[in-house]
Amino acid sequence: MAEPLTGSETQLVFKTSVSRQKPRTLHLSHPVSCDCPFCDRSQLPPIIKEDGDILLVPNKYPIHEGSDPLVLIETAHCDSELSLYSESHLFRVFHMALMTWQEMLDSGDYASVLFLKNHGPYSGGSLRHPHMQLIGLKQVNYRPNISHRDFQGPVIWSAPGVRLCLSDHPRIGFYEFNVELTIRSQWQEMCRLIQNTVRFLLRDHMNGKINSYNFFFYDLDGVIYCKIMPRLVTTPLFMGYSIPQVTDNLEAIVQQFQSIYFPDSALKKEAMPS
Ligand SMILES: [Zn+2]
Repeated sequence: MAEPLTGSETQLVFKTSVSRQKPRTLHLSHPVSCDCPFCDRSQLPPIIKEDGDILLVPNKYPIHEGSDPLVLIETAHCDSELSLYSESHLFRVFHMALMTWQEMLDSGDYASVLFLKNHGPYSGGSLRHPHMQLIGLKQVNYRPNISHRDFQGPVIWSAPGVRLCLSDHPRIGFYEFNVELTIRSQWQEMCRLIQNTVRFLLRDHMNGKINSYNFFFYDLDGVIYCKIMPRLVTTPLFMGYSIPQVTDNLEAIVQQFQSIYFPDSALKKEAMPS
């Protein structure tokens, strides 16, 4: 039997004194602020990687013990958003992010490496300026907390080595979109699917009620997953009892998504005999 995990392998120590120094521009009452540390390049720590206005820097506020946090600043435009990028900018942002994530994984320095994004007042982020985070964790491995089942459900779109689905066993509840990448050379298709999902959430879904999302990347048994989650206030049933809730309209959401972004595949499905 495996040794039981100790606290240092399953939870992160949050440094409150560092957190207090962190600048915040994302507030429910004040969504945009003018003193953004990512707009003022003179405030940035030494740049690790640079591709035009896409920058990789160390996070100035490492709030977790045993972590190496990096920030990828996606653009010089504070009020831009991933859903608005041209395809070439989208690919350049993800190329730097995915290369860095892979380098951190390959370094052997970490038990696991987190790659995530926060957007909007309910996302848990503190800065509005579009950015992603890569966090190497020295002791904590997230993989025992997740399973392949977390990324399965009705398929919205697929091609060899890459697909998008909607969770029928969501981790928290409601709508969780998952991109699965099994053939690495299909990474640009993965980027397109992530951008379409963010567009669907922010513009087309639930009458524009969603203003916040996260995405999270995982590497599990050689498969890369990206889970894109619209963020609303977390339900009490999950907070108190860890019971996820799945909606009874998954197929309708799949069809709505297909009709907007993949009209050919939706038509094909309709034409097939049931
Ligand atoms: Zn900014």
